[in-house]
Amino acid sequence: MSTLTEVQAKSAPIISQIQNEAVRLATLKLIERCYKRGVEIRITQGFRTTEEQNALYAQGRTTPGPIVTNARGGQSYHNYSLAIDFVLIKGGYNMQYDGDSDGIADWVEVVTEAKALGFAWGGDWKSFKDDPHFEMSFGLSLADLRSGKRPSSTQISKAISQINALDDKEEERMSEQLEKKLDEFKKAAEAQFTALDEKFKLLEKRHAVPAWADKLLSDMKQKNLITSTNDKGYDFSTIAQMMKNAGMLEKTFLDHVAQINKGEHKNESK
Ligand SMILES: [Zn+2]
Repeated sequence: MSTLTEVQAKSAPIISQIQNEAVRLATLKLIERCYKRGVEIRITQGFRTTEEQNALYAQGRTTPGPIVTNARGGQSYHNYSLAIDFVLIKGGYNMQYDGDSDGIADWVEVVTEAKALGFAWGGDWKSFKDDPHFEMSFGLSLADLRSGKRPSSTQISKAISQINALDDKEEERMSEQLEKKLDEFKKAAEAQFTALDEKFKLLEKRHAVPAWADKLLSDMKQKNLITSTNDKGYDFSTIAQMMKNAGMLEKTFLDHVAQINKGEHKNESK
């Protein structure tokens, strides 16, 4: 995985030749937004001079190579700095390649981002599909452009603010997501605290002598059944109550205890 700076550097010379400010900004954002999705792209074409366009048109016709364009000089949006072409740095021109393994072909991810930035995609054309191609026409046909019409500064400013608004929307969505996560975390923490508090209260209760055992315990102390000072707690009180229920507070049993205490106890089995 390259850094964003390394990926940007690969396209810098071509981007610097794009004169239309909105197209240039959108191209920079396209590289960045694709990178954030795990897709690295390189811009292969931006502005083309009329001579370059004519040379490209000749390819596959009068010069070697495959036909890549139906446009002669002046007949392509590239000649007006309104179009770009790209390639996947890893997948090349493979439109099914899914380098980031997110189940969406990298090519489709690039097209999605480009359209969000205001580009039209050459892959949507009915005749001569141009899959690596994006353009911004600003409502101008090639005939308009050839006759000297150009996008107005108002149109360009509007496009730029729409491109930047996309980032703002992204940030807003991110902070909303963060807030939601924080809220979930807070609720989970609160639930944990409540559970701990309940456990703590239970422990406290187990440690305290219940009101019903006050008299019982003092009776047992008086009768030397309890000699320890460690006579606190709910469990201790319950055991004391069980002893009482078993008749251990009755006279015969107490006489027996008294004999043990005096050392007069004999083993009765002998
Ligand atoms: Zn193109």
